[in-house]
Amino acid sequence: MFPTSTILALVLAAAAPDRILVNGVVHTMDDARPRAEAVAMTGGRISAVGSSAEVLALKGPQTEVIDLRGATVIPGLKESHGHFIGIGQARMVLDLVGTKSWDEVVARVAEAVKTRPKGAWIVGRGWHEGKWQTRPAREIRGFPPHNALSAVSPDNPVYLVRADGHAGFANARAMELMKITKETKAPAGGDVIRDETGEATGVFIDTAKGLIRPPSPTDADIREAVRLATEECLRKGITFFDDAGADPATLALYKDLAAKNQLGLRLYAMIAGLDSMKKFGPPEPGGADSFLSIRSVKLVIDGALGSRGARLLEPYVDDPGNTGLWVTDPAKVREGALYGIEHGFQVNVHAIGDAGNRAVLDAFEAAFKAHPEKKDVRFRDEHSQILDESDIPRFGRLGVIASIQGIHGTSDLPWAAKRLGEARVLEGAYVWQKLRKSGAVLINGTDAPVEDVDPIKSYYASVTRQSEAGEPRGGYQPDQKLTRLEALRSYTKDAYWASFAEANGGVVVPGKWADLTVLSKDILSVPDAEILKAQVLYTIVNGRVAYRSGAK
Ligand SMILES: [Zn+2]
Repeated sequence: MFPTSTILALVLAAAAPDRILVNGVVHTMDDARPRAEAVAMTGGRISAVGSSAEVLALKGPQTEVIDLRGATVIPGLKESHGHFIGIGQARMVLDLVGTKSWDEVVARVAEAVKTRPKGAWIVGRGWHEGKWQTRPAREIRGFPPHNALSAVSPDNPVYLVRADGHAGFANARAMELMKITKETKAPAGGDVIRDETGEATGVFIDTAKGLIRPPSPTDADIREAVRLATEECLRKGITFFDDAGADPATLALYKDLAAKNQLGLRLYAMIAGLDSMKKFGPPEPGGADSFLSIRSVKLVIDGALGSRGARLLEPYVDDPGNTGLWVTDPAKVREGALYGIEHGFQVNVHAIGDAGNRAVLDAFEAAFKAHPEKKDVRFRDEHSQILDESDIPRFGRLGVIASIQGIHGTSDLPWAAKRLGEARVLEGAYVWQKLRKSGAVLINGTDAPVEDVDPIKSYYASVTRQSEAGEPRGGYQPDQKLTRLEALRSYTKDAYWASFAEANGGVVVPGKWADLTVLSKDILSVPDAEILKAQVLYTIVNGRVAYRSGAK
């Protein structure tokens, strides 16, 4: 028999925290106690939040104490719209991000040709003609023809995906293998750019990208992509990731990894497409301790602004006669919204253009009207990018979540007026405050690998609407900036809510997941220019240090 005091001590020792963070600036995002200095973690959950002295008093013999020396702790950051496998794959293919001209793209392919066996596919990603500093000698509907690309790679088929994933560039060999001729028709929701003789120029938009099919990645390739994506997200402070459209094979892999406890961060995987949702069976939200939740679908109503696939109410200023594409027939999106609400799936629809966004709001509204008994569905408009003024109040009124990408604001606003004209941009492009004022919940992300998944860069863009170089002074449409607190909510508390995870996280409060991001600077208070200098010191997932910066 042990004396009572010994038993009490044993119980306390068992309950002692695994890990304690002290001497920090903790932004809890909890209204009841917004600030603290220290956090204790026990068994994957936050067990205490308070002053350093209070939390240190809980220390047991096995407790690891991390002295933060004034560093900032925030809830684990959540990427609310990215393409997880794509992040990894982007690091496995020819990287064209940052290329400054068509000539540079061609030169990189020419280099790659030297290292590949004759006939092997060369797949690349990341070009963006809007960011080229010199224009190609010849352009057809805004893109160069394939000739230079075909000349440097006569034997290797080449396929280069645009940065936004909404267009692909093929060389002659790839088009020959895929039997592209003058007669090849673009599928519904797609476009094949042609020269004046009717020959394809090599550019395939939206669903037409499917006409060019490089060999599919193997299972080992996809596992490697997961590993690379996990590593990159953790390094950049992300603990929770909404994968905006996973195919059945990827979902199966995620389930396998989750069952074996091998996911390095939490995943909220959206099922890609209506048919896959129907085949999936009932939603699998995952338990409170699960790293995987599958209870939503991703649909795509239109294309993207850069490749002029975004569906507009009025034509493109720089491509008159073109109003963009319906990637999915709006009737199908209505069907998807209805199926989702009836079967317990959250419905998240990609919409860029003002016509695309209106059609999504219409589809959601029809589903809500058909099922007034379903109260807490949290449907999301992914991107909410270009809006007709009259549609903005509908977000708040209907309770549709605006899933924005802060970084798209500063990447796209320099050239958005070329596509849309100044008036449409001012009225409804990237109008984050107008959306907030409508009563909408805003959540944030990067659409990686379209943009760098780095949440600090997207946060900076959200609160300044300036480029990394600080341009333009004062920011694009400064009245549409988010405040620091609003932007942090869009990456934490509100983002978790948008994935039905508010009971488990998004705030630093005892009982929640011990998922935390530790930064070298207080991004709620440093001057604007300092935000980009904030470094991720620790990324903590489920109470474990999943990433630790070497610099500290
Ligand atoms: Zn996306």
